[in-house]
Amino acid sequence: MTADLAARFPTDFRWSTATAAFQVEGARSEGGKGRSIWDEFVETPGRVLDGSTAEPGPDSYHRIDDDVRLLAELGVDSYRFSISWVRVQPDGQGPANPDGLDYYRRLVDALLEAGITPFPTLYHWDLPITLHREGGWLNRAIAERFADYTQLVAAALGDRVTDWYTLNEPVSTTLEGYAIGELAPGEALLFDALPTVHHQLLAHGRAVPILRAHGAERIGIVNNHTHVRPLHDTADDHRAVDAYDLIHNRLFADPLLTGRYPDLEAFGLPPMPVRSDDLAVISAPCDFYGVNFYNPTTVTAPPADSPIPFDLSATRGAEHTGFGEMWPIVPGALTALLVDFRDRYGPSLPPIVIGENGASFPEPATVEGTIDDRNRIHYLAGHVAAVADAIAAGVDVREYTVWSLLDNFEWAAGFSQRFGIVHVDQTTGTRTPKASYAWYRDLIAQARV
Ligand code: BGC
Repeated sequence: MTADLAARFPTDFRWSTATAAFQVEGARSEGGKGRSIWDEFVETPGRVLDGSTAEPGPDSYHRIDDDVRLLAELGVDSYRFSISWVRVQPDGQGPANPDGLDYYRRLVDALLEAGITPFPTLYHWDLPITLHREGGWLNRAIAERFADYTQLVAAALGDRVTDWYTLNEPVSTTLEGYAIGELAPGEALLFDALPTVHHQLLAHGRAVPILRAHGAERIGIVNNHTHVRPLHDTADDHRAVDAYDLIHNRLFADPLLTGRYPDLEAFGLPPMPVRSDDLAVISAPCDFYGVNFYNPTTVTAPPADSPIPFDLSATRGAEHTGFGEMWPIVPGALTALLVDFRDRYGPSLPPIVIGENGASFPEPATVEGTIDDRNRIHYLAGHVAAVADAIAAGVDVREYTVWSLLDNFEWAAGFSQRFGIVHVDQTTGTRTPKASYAWYRDLIAQARV
């Protein structure tokens, strides 16, 4: 019953939905746009499962009106989208490209006109290729490049945007982009990838005062967090849990929220390249802490000769999404994660914003009528209830965001995974709201009563 679910939230709780530039915009060489690591990645044979290139996809670059109409009818408070660094700075440095900024200005104005708060993310994985050639996130200098880029965006949009996410999921960039190479830039450096953690957090820290100086009211970073469970109740498996929790959660959250890195040496990991006041920059207070949540992670002890202190395992007894058994559906894991964070960080934890939550399921490429995606409604309802449970347990959660408004380019999985509450025909761009869209619209309407 959506009414019962909605009644569990305060009336000023905020509801949102999200996309990211490379996943929905298309138009990769229009408006003076430069090239990012993702342009190169999609052109490399074998990198993207179905060989797709994100083009034309939802083509949101040309469909601001369609997207904003869908958002307005949905009734969301805010829209989380991302700004493409290479639309703003085609070479990753130097002056702003006016056409790039103009696109985001038009999007922001259309949102404001519709009464929707624009909630952009400055960086959602599309690093300028020029900066990648200089070492990308492995090179400390990138934090200054990011500060320059932030300055240009804030100067252009700060008069109308007050809510900002800095970076999306530094953990995915480090682990999947640099450690194992499943995402761009496709490096497989294992633990040599760890400096990218520090440089991303430093970039976030450098951006915060710049955004504040341009009138920002809500600033935060958004990371992907998971609740980690042991496969067996043994000391070795619990140690694997601690290792994975450290690498996936604490390595990112501790420095932001406590000003200290966790004890890396205890797990045989190299120290972070910290200089003088870096940790003060990184831990400067923010207005919210962004959590993207999809699933829990089950781990077990690795073989004795493994260089990695854990092995990933399927989660027993759980249903799963279109990504298979490594994406189990366990809504209670979101409550457990939020309660753990509250207990772990106490008063240092600012209000939480759920920046992404959602699921992909196999759905047709073209659609007649609509898609009756009860599996997605079930997933979303379970996780919204999990957020209500966390609030009831005393966790301060202020906003919930569905990933995604649109079926879009799902990175290395190409167009093979559909996360949208709106179906998109990736060749024509035609948008068709699914049953989950109507469900979310009704939930939001009832939560306001
Ligand atoms: C990312 C999104 C992605 C989603 C589903 C998150 O990790 O921020 O860009 O599409 O998960 O995989």
